[in-house]
Amino acid sequence: MQNWRSRFRKKKMEYLKMYDLIIIGGGPAGMTAALYAARADLNVLLLERGVVGGQVINTYEVDNYPGFPKINGAELMMHFSEHVEQQPVEIRYEEVTDVELGETIKCVRTYNGEYEARAILYCAGASPKPLGVPGEDTYRGRGVSYCATCDGAFFRGRTVAVVGGGDTAAEDAAYLARACKQVYVLVRKPYMRAAASLQRKLKELENVTIMYETVVREVQGDGTFVNGVDIIRAGQEETLALDGVFAAIGIVPETGLLKGKVDTCTQGFIATDEYMMTSIPGVFAAGDVVQKVLRQIITAAADGAVAVTGVLRYFDL
Ligand SMILES: Cc1cc2nc3c(=O)[nH]c(=O)nc-3n(C[C@H](O)[C@H](O)[C@H](O)COP(=O)(O)OP(=O)(O)OC[C@H]3O[C@@H](n4cnc5c(N)ncnc54)[C@H](O)[C@@H]3O)c2cc1C
Repeated sequence: MQNWRSRFRKKKMEYLKMYDLIIIGGGPAGMTAALYAARADLNVLLLERGVVGGQVINTYEVDNYPGFPKINGAELMMHFSEHVEQQPVEIRYEEVTDVELGETIKCVRTYNGEYEARAILYCAGASPKPLGVPGEDTYRGRGVSYCATCDGAFFRGRTVAVVGGGDTAAEDAAYLARACKQVYVLVRKPYMRAAASLQRKLKELENVTIMYETVVREVQGDGTFVNGVDIIRAGQEETLALDGVFAAIGIVPETGLLKGKVDTCTQGFIATDEYMMTSIPGVFAAGDVVQKVLRQIITAAADGAVAVTGVLRYFDL
């Protein structure tokens, strides 16, 4: 029985094509990497569990990707995808379920089979933590945002709230205060967890009000756009009139497949060197899933390009 199994596996392996590089995830990081890898003559396979484009395809308007002012997120990603299709990149729509990180050969499993490569690049992204309150899904992209850098400019001269008490919430509030009329920071605890220097900065801003012991109960709207939030503040119910709500309660990296296999930093983001290589030689990571200071389309794309430079260096090319 064992012999039959191993003979079958050996036969199957003969049919397995060995790729130079397998990219997991077809968002901005993965697609940019695919483009760079193919242009460097690498034999590359990109595996995507949904449709290529990543998180951006759900973004109504992107206004900070240079060269494409006020473009719909799905349209921007279509340009990425058309560009990649001009190169000999093999794209398969399969969800990766497991990876085996051998010293020289990396094996990637999907529900359809397994693939082998000399190197892998993990670009599975991250997702913002939702508030989990009624009204949030209804007004997502219509006043409810998870990215101050992305959407702040749409709220110029308006009143908004940032929900959260950590560094991201403090940074988002300071960023929004530059353009918004009034920014409320809604903090669940009686104190903020953000760095003392950030809190000092916030307190100096005249249009920022920090509300402690405040929990959002529901996002309210007029049917098309957010117009307030119901909160409980120090035990009392209140309604706060607003034009927008920015959730900044955390971001969760999609690191499941590499959990325990490569080194991670705080909050589980993958640690890489300057070539985007993880703690395992031949295993690279790029985009929102890695530890970094700014998670945007442009930085994800840049990581993807750098990672391919790292792969070429790893291959000694
Ligand atoms: C609401 C919102 C609005 C935003 N607006 C902007 C903006 O205006 N401007 C801006 O610059 N940035 C914006 N961002 C941030 C930007 O979307 C991200 O920084 C960027 O998409 C990160 O790219 P990525 O390639 O690292 O990951 P992602 O875009 O998350 O792509 C990851 C891909 O990997 C795939 N994947 C995951 N696991 C597997 C698996 N096991 N097998 C196969 N495939 C897998 C996913 O399906 C996905 O397609 C926004 C983000 C959000 C949430």
